[in-house]
Amino acid sequence: MTTNADLIADARALDAEATPGPWFYFISEPGGFERGAKPAGIYPHDDPNDDEAIAFLRTAEQDDTDAAFIARTRTLLPQLADALVALHVDVRKWAIREAHSEDGKAKVCGVCMHSWPANLSDEYHAEDCPARPMEPGT
Ligand SMILES: [Zn+2]
Repeated sequence: MTTNADLIADARALDAEATPGPWFYFISEPGGFERGAKPAGIYPHDDPNDDEAIAFLRTAEQDDTDAAFIARTRTLLPQLADALVALHVDVRKWAIREAHSEDGKAKVCGVCMHSWPANLSDEYHAEDCPARPMEPGT
């Protein structure tokens, strides 16, 4: 099973290894690869005259959506990973509360309603609770 933590780790690994963003794309005039095709170059800067293209695509005529997708995902993917981590932090802040039990302090999750003694480092949530801790490093 792929977890959110797995997805975030993949996004962060790809981000760390790739050419820094943002990336830009430019569509050339038809020609080059095949008749009617428009080559699209993906660049780490907004100067398409430079030879530092990251990739070239053959796009269908008048269709530059693939180039736009690739260029935008360079910065969008790590932004979405950051947003997911921030949302998870907010969910946990909202969900986990201090409570009192017969034998002392406890913590209770307002989402799954499980509780555990406050002195335990482990938390006890329902298996599908969105307030469960993510794996380390996320
Ligand atoms: Zn919970």
